[in-house]
Amino acid sequence: MNLILFGPPAAGKGTQALRLVQQHGMVQLSTGDMLRAAKTSGSELGHRVAEIMNRGELVSDEIVVDLIEERLPEAEAAGGAIFDGFPRTVAQAEALDNMLAHRHAQIDIVIRLVVDHSALLSRIAKRFAEQGRPDDNPEVFETRLSAYAAQTAPLLPYYQLQGKLVELDGMTSVDEVARGIDKALERVGVHTY
Ligand code: AMP
Repeated sequence: MNLILFGPPAAGKGTQALRLVQQHGMVQLSTGDMLRAAKTSGSELGHRVAEIMNRGELVSDEIVVDLIEERLPEAEAAGGAIFDGFPRTVAQAEALDNMLAHRHAQIDIVIRLVVDHSALLSRIAKRFAEQGRPDDNPEVFETRLSAYAAQTAPLLPYYQLQGKLVELDGMTSVDEVARGIDKALERVGVHTY
């Protein structure tokens, strides 16, 4: 079972992904986490992406597609992946569909967490104060939201046309969102307890 958690930065994708990992033993594939790990390790890739990430812009499709491809065998062995923060462009979504098709797999469901602009801003202000992530500062966060609107939101019709898109109100409690996700998963044959 392969699931995409879709939504703007700070929609709650990471929180819900973590719960699904704990509950279903699936693998979370977060390109943001992978890129931050590359930055921290000081690798060549980390140096290449650092400035782009600090500006709040998207890194190239090729970089993130390669990162995901490397991790697909591990996800397959675990019975599926939760894609978190990937895909973020139509080109990435097409590459993902191709990579999965080569493995006789597919995306089963795309869950969109809908959160309004002002709620995102207050969540991020809190996260910035608590964690100090450089790209959570208010100006950079606006750039990340613009990137979402311009490059990522156009993916919604892509998945809607495939009949895979489920929309959930991401402004209710973490538990309520989790219940909505579980119900949506039950509809595609994943049973939660
Ligand atoms: P995130 O933690 O998912 O918000 O990602 C943090 C940053 O990593 C983003 O602002 C981008 O610079 C970069 N990034 C993460 N995932 C992607 C992706 N799928 N495509 C392009 N850039 C990405």
